[in-house]
Amino acid sequence: MAYEVPALPYPYDSLAPTIDEETMHLHHDKHHQAYVDKANAALEGTEWADKPIEEVITNLSSLPDDIKGPVRNNGGGHYNHSLFWESMTPGGSELSGELADAIAAKFGSVDEFKEKFEAAGVGQFGSGWAWLVVDGGELAIVSTANQDSPLTDGKTPLLGNDVWEHAYYLTYKNARPAYLKAWWDVVNWDVVAERYAAAK
Ligand code: MN
Repeated sequence: MAYEVPALPYPYDSLAPTIDEETMHLHHDKHHQAYVDKANAALEGTEWADKPIEEVITNLSSLPDDIKGPVRNNGGGHYNHSLFWESMTPGGSELSGELADAIAAKFGSVDEFKEKFEAAGVGQFGSGWAWLVVDGGELAIVSTANQDSPLTDGKTPLLGNDVWEHAYYLTYKNARPAYLKAWWDVVNWDVVAERYAAAK
């Protein structure tokens, strides 16, 4: 069963002004579709083609050498973007409860966590992602290059922000820090809290 781009769980224009409608169409319909098409092409005919994308990306080192690179980039792109769309909701949702407490305990406060996460995104040279992960039972902030996923490093992604220019350039131009700061307005913390509960 080949991979498919999941439908957005909200209308294309509903994250505006944080993320504009044209960016959502290009990013979801064109960029994510291209990752899916290329991942399917790379995996076709292998024993991995019918496996969930999480399993493939977690076990990247076990893949045949000739498809490792394409699957790392395009399978990673499919996994990362699928998580990204689900991590947002129009107007955002509130960070509360056990996850809020754990973030404050680990990073000093929620505001300090946000600053450190934004710094990870700003500091990622070129294209990549900023992440909140569970690593060895502990919350951590990491960044990855290109479409590399924390899953491949044995970490569980809870929240990821795409800092490729295609994610923000139409609205924010070169101002990646402004995009990272504005993005909190659309984060779906309910979904992140569910991932945290499952990961512990
Ligand atoms: Mn992207």
